[in-house]
Amino acid sequence: MKIIKCKELKDKHTDLKFGKNFTDYMFMMEYHDGAWDYENACIKPYEPFVLDPSTSVFHYGQAVFEGLKAYRNEAGEVRLFRPMENMKRMLDSCWRVCIPQIDPQFAHDALVELVKLEKDWIPTAPGTSLYIRPFVIAVDRALGVHAAKNYIFAIILSPVGAYYAHGFAPVSLYVEEHYKRACKGGTGHYKVAVNYAASILASEEAEKRGYDQTLWLDAQENKYMEEVGSMNIFFVISGVVVTPMLAGSILPGITRKSTIELLKARGYTVEERRVSVDEVVKAAEDGTLNEIFGTGTAAVVSPVGSFGYNGKDYTVGDGQMGKITKYVYDELTGIQTGVKPDEFGWVERIV
Ligand SMILES: *Cc1c(COP(=O)(O)O)cnc(C)c1O
Repeated sequence: MKIIKCKELKDKHTDLKFGKNFTDYMFMMEYHDGAWDYENACIKPYEPFVLDPSTSVFHYGQAVFEGLKAYRNEAGEVRLFRPMENMKRMLDSCWRVCIPQIDPQFAHDALVELVKLEKDWIPTAPGTSLYIRPFVIAVDRALGVHAAKNYIFAIILSPVGAYYAHGFAPVSLYVEEHYKRACKGGTGHYKVAVNYAASILASEEAEKRGYDQTLWLDAQENKYMEEVGSMNIFFVISGVVVTPMLAGSILPGITRKSTIELLKARGYTVEERRVSVDEVVKAAEDGTLNEIFGTGTAAVVSPVGSFGYNGKDYTVGDGQMGKITKYVYDELTGIQTGVKPDEFGWVERIV
């Protein structure tokens, strides 16, 4: 891989607000003339794209992305968490919006090389990390809805602070009965840009009502829990861990998958099935709703303290972070940072 070096490098920022600062270098590869141009793929100084106003992604949203993290400890070791899972999911997403497939091993190796080059940017304080954002966009210079013939695959890096710098703050969710994020046969199962455009209005309205995030219900029956903005959702009811099964409209989170695998291996009962809002409301009312938590790369695990549905608010457990939520957080972050043994072989140490 070509690496185009620059002389002047930015200061390694100390401001670690999520997604605001980017490192010195980026990875980039183009697709043209019917093939990905692996030969001219390169790591180069971080710089803006110059794109024609007619560029297809601006109009029709043919775009996919991924999100994962690199962790560095005091000894300087750098770790990635299940990066090949992200590469595979990116290819699934590409397939759904007709973006040509990329060699997953090549994409993985490009990512590793970029992170190694930028390893000094990875903060080492507990809870901090380097957020990695691979993405693919359609860049045909033409209007008209069809699969583009030109694409850019790029990877950018952003150092991020501890999500829970001020202690765990349980979030409140608004169970959305009107707007829909995804339906069976749609794009909800894939990490494609259009899903997020579709969700913003509901998020804004939930925030105006005083809730932190939207909890989506299924589009067909308006009855079953699906997921939160950018997190999958887990319920602990009478000590049993329950999460909505993947049935086409839910994003298959890698943190979700890891949480299920971890809890099962540790002897917990985990059910993947349909979870109706009525079941959760009933559990909240009769005192058997022990915990709710979200899972996703950004927060790893996010405790839910309350939720609003149909004009009423319900408290989850005692409104604080639950025991299983805390356990999953400690175990997953322990494995990710190398503090706990990696018994599942999830971690790739790259430095
Ligand atoms: C990315 C994402 C998740 C979480 O996936 P992870 O692989 O765990 O980060 C969940 N839901 C949606 C809608 C997402 O975009």
